[in-house]
Amino acid sequence: MKKCGNCGAVQNDARAVCIDCGERLGRPMSDAEAAQHMSALDKAVEHMTDPSDDFAVPRRDKIMGALALVSIVVLCVLLCVIGVVEDRYQPEYPKGAALSASGTGAVFFSPGEGVTWVENPYIDEQQALEQASLTALCGVLMFAFAAFLMFFPRAVWYLDTSRIRRYISGELAPSRAWVVTHKVVQYVAFAVGWCCVIAVIWLIP
Ligand SMILES: [Zn+2]
Repeated sequence: MKKCGNCGAVQNDARAVCIDCGERLGRPMSDAEAAQHMSALDKAVEHMTDPSDDFAVPRRDKIMGALALVSIVVLCVLLCVIGVVEDRYQPEYPKGAALSASGTGAVFFSPGEGVTWVENPYIDEQQALEQASLTALCGVLMFAFAAFLMFFPRAVWYLDTSRIRRYISGELAPSRAWVVTHKVVQYVAFAVGWCCVIAVIWLIP
């Protein structure tokens, strides 16, 4: 790369005179000078991009997206806890007992006494644990959805408009309503995810 001493235009090494002003060009830039020039250029371009761009991901969303991913890990830990607690609530029925389909108990034949029905003493705990694991899965989905919305607004926009794109030529730009709805949905999904976490903790007996 050569930089014109007169107008500052940067151009190809092969040129002897400036493409912009016709001034004679000197020696090519050293690697260090070229790197400095490129980083200055990058900075200038970065400054030019509008931070209020519809698809820009603000720092707040990046943090919340990261939190959503951490929350997925938290829910996975809670699912493991549910598995451990479940082992504690396994009733012991006599050998050969037939379990009821609803899990409320078991019948078995004892010699000389006929049919005996034994209620499952842990039915409430088992149901709570089942609800807790479903809620945890729901939370995982919510956080994954929220993180996707937060990190990839452009992808969401392309998904949203994929059908209409087939009929329209040229660029589509999101409306203010789309941007606002997108933000609201991502925060609601994040909030619902946290409600799930709290519900799971509350449901584990
Ligand atoms: Zn020049």
